[in-house]
Amino acid sequence: MTTKRSSSGSKAVSRSSRQSSSPKVGFVSLGCPKALVDSELIVTQLRAEGYVISQSYQDSDLVVVNTCGFIDDAVAESLDAIGEALAENGKVIVTGCLGARNDSDGGNMVTNVHPKVLAVTGPHAAQEVMEHVHRHLPRPHDPFSDLVPEAGIKLTPRHYAYLKISEGCNHRCSFCIIPSMRGDLVSRPIGDVMREAKALLQSGVRELLVISQDTSAYGVDVRYRSGFVEGRPVRTKMLDLVRELGKLAQDHGAWVRLHYVYPYPHVDEVVELMGGGGVLPYLDVPFQHAHPRILKLMKRPASGERNIERIQAWRAALPDITVRSTFIAGFPGETEKEFEYLLDFLREARLDRVGCFAYSPVDGAAANDLPGALPDEIREERRERFMAVQAQISAERLQRFVGRNMQVLVDGVEETDAGIVAVGRSAMDAPEIDGVVRFVGEGRLPIGDFVQVRITGSDEHDLEGEMIDPS
Ligand code: SF4
Repeated sequence: MTTKRSSSGSKAVSRSSRQSSSPKVGFVSLGCPKALVDSELIVTQLRAEGYVISQSYQDSDLVVVNTCGFIDDAVAESLDAIGEALAENGKVIVTGCLGARNDSDGGNMVTNVHPKVLAVTGPHAAQEVMEHVHRHLPRPHDPFSDLVPEAGIKLTPRHYAYLKISEGCNHRCSFCIIPSMRGDLVSRPIGDVMREAKALLQSGVRELLVISQDTSAYGVDVRYRSGFVEGRPVRTKMLDLVRELGKLAQDHGAWVRLHYVYPYPHVDEVVELMGGGGVLPYLDVPFQHAHPRILKLMKRPASGERNIERIQAWRAALPDITVRSTFIAGFPGETEKEFEYLLDFLREARLDRVGCFAYSPVDGAAANDLPGALPDEIREERRERFMAVQAQISAERLQRFVGRNMQVLVDGVEETDAGIVAVGRSAMDAPEIDGVVRFVGEGRLPIGDFVQVRITGSDEHDLEGEMIDPS
């Protein structure tokens, strides 16, 4: 069972095969793309050692649950998933962010609620998880089972994959407990990252999604020292990595999309690399707020940057660049005036893609001690007002694509009131968080590949059109 559950309850495809004599492990994967990459590492290792990834609790000899511990809803979902696995199977190993969290009594949050779990680890602990699996379900001796694809086992659809370039974070944003769970920034060697990227592209991946806690900080921890890529020295630095990934993606006719980019000055040079193919003109920049006092309380990195001017300069260089961001409404002490300031920023910045959370106090976060906590209704009301403003901006911005042709990566099909339509994503749309392009067309639908679509309509978040022909 390789099940990816999220707050929306989606399930990922499983590509496991069954071998009746091999020990079977069920796998439940919750949380963000970084947790998903941890799941992929563990599933890859399990498969490499000859374990079978099972399709049901009943069919599993043991279940691993990879948890999320970021906000209260995620904690509740993770604890429910562990309870379900215990009830249905009984032998459960827990890993992930929730595993690193303690209750107010100092005891581990998972074992306090579910004392019968076999073992608990924190995030980024594939080796530790494997040691627990070996102890409770000894590894089989089958040399043939070591044959797994070089790109590892992926829980995403075959045509896109997350590429994690670092772990941990050097910042200490007051609403976040990730650094206390995952530690300071540790950048992966650039040679390893590029080898993984190449193996993924060679295995048929058409879109690489670069993730980390702070992509712009890649290499800071190792002082940008040089590593080796195909025998050439290359600095462990965001600009160099993006240049290398862009060339590699172009050679394979694929896309590279950058997430979690903080607007440090050197990001302007990265934007210059986006005009030439390979690296998409897409920047996921988590601003979180716009008012200087709230940004200071949040202790946000790069909060002193003149963000409106930066966005305008990026758009002057690349008119179709997509700028995505996330925000928090109702942070402790946020006044109505400061929230209005945020709305004004949004109206002026006219961002393309935006997500907004009502502030949610996370156990252990420094922001919980700030004065002026707002009632739930005000936080939620501000989130809704924020999203209403953005919906109008998004609808206006999407209209400019009507009548144009766009390259679209086909994700699959969807049933609508008008019948079955194809669904894909343009350069503007990251999977699961942005909009989609729905389209109709004649002939074979190349799922997992690119087509050209003529855009005929738009709404608040999505586009619609007609397939021209495979591109
Ligand atoms: S940049 Fe801030 S929000 Fe992001 S992981 Fe680091 S501390 Fe958390």
